[in-house]
Amino acid sequence: MQPFTYSALPSRVVFGVDALARAAEEVRALGAGRAMVVCTPEQAELGGELLVRLGEVGVSIFTGAAMHTPVEITEQALALARSEGVDCTVAIGGGSTIGLGKAIALRIDTPQIVIPTTYAGSEATPILGETEHGRKVTQRSPRVLPEVILYDVDLTLTLPVALSGTSGLNAIAHAAEALYAENANPIISLLAEDGVRALSGALPRIALDPMNRDARSDALYGAWACGACLGAVGMALHHKLCHILGGTFDLPHAPTHTVVLPYALAYNAAAAPQAISRLARAMETDDPVAALRAIARRFGAAMSLEALGMPRDGLRKAADLAVENPYWNPRPVERDAIFNLLEDAYSGREPALVGR
Ligand code: NAD
Repeated sequence: MQPFTYSALPSRVVFGVDALARAAEEVRALGAGRAMVVCTPEQAELGGELLVRLGEVGVSIFTGAAMHTPVEITEQALALARSEGVDCTVAIGGGSTIGLGKAIALRIDTPQIVIPTTYAGSEATPILGETEHGRKVTQRSPRVLPEVILYDVDLTLTLPVALSGTSGLNAIAHAAEALYAENANPIISLLAEDGVRALSGALPRIALDPMNRDARSDALYGAWACGACLGAVGMALHHKLCHILGGTFDLPHAPTHTVVLPYALAYNAAAAPQAISRLARAMETDDPVAALRAIARRFGAAMSLEALGMPRDGLRKAADLAVENPYWNPRPVERDAIFNLLEDAYSGREPALVGR
């Protein structure tokens, strides 16, 4: 066994409950009594239902959560939280909503209960990305790690089919990079492999029948496992590229992960053979790169950066940004090779598993 360091994150996970019914009890268990619900405008009805179910421990609702956690929106939510004397937040939704709960916690240290309704995995991480003046800045802080996660499969049944596929592949990306992380460790690698096994088994069943509760439940478990990997170890080239493409070219979060992951894995394959073997074992395939593309196709996902609206003349800038302050990566991050990777991803050319 190689030497390793593993730091466990303090987080309470309650999986497989009626989250709306359970939330009030969890607010009280945190010693709080004035909770604010946060959600997006699209999920305002669900947020309103949660507020009603919180009863006397629910005092207000903020329905303005938005993608990339804009600081102006956090300020509005904070003003409401202060005026209502809020002592806890309950975020219900995807990564955007959970990001707002984290941004509030960063500023006023409110304990957080989160009820995830996508597979993005933010609920299990001490990471917050915020946007101010058009720039997204990401930080890690124990203060933003949610105290309690309530997983309720029924709330994921409404997740649109296309987003179910890309969100699930976004989760798999966390686990895939955890397997070759600089600070990889045996516990997180076990979780990564099991998360990939659960999601890659569940997603094709969801594509066939989005109301399949067993498949949805396996996917939600996989999302937690993969999110815990993202929270515990450092990410590499794939996440760096997605950060650039989302931040600089405003490409959509989960569909961008879906396009880029097979190319990033192909780039790293020869330098991280054990990670690729573990992915192959989890997905029950010889070729996890091709298998990931096959899952994306089942959901009708965009298969190229061009299809996501990336401007062709942005590829050079993206390659330049990728080699500026690169994340640690198992294979050196070289400008020309990254440009080739991006060109392939732009055109949707099939990535080859073992180097070029
Ligand atoms: P999202 O939260 O932006 O949700 C997309 C849309 O789907 C929203 O309108 C939302 O209300 C709706 N939606 C969510 N769940 C639904 C459901 N079950 N039924 C119907 N509609 C539903 O999407 P996302 O991919 O979960 O999150 C993306 C954001 O999260 C990005 O900003 C990303 O950077 C961030 N993120 C952060 C971390 C972290 O650790 N900090 C991890 C992953 C993602």
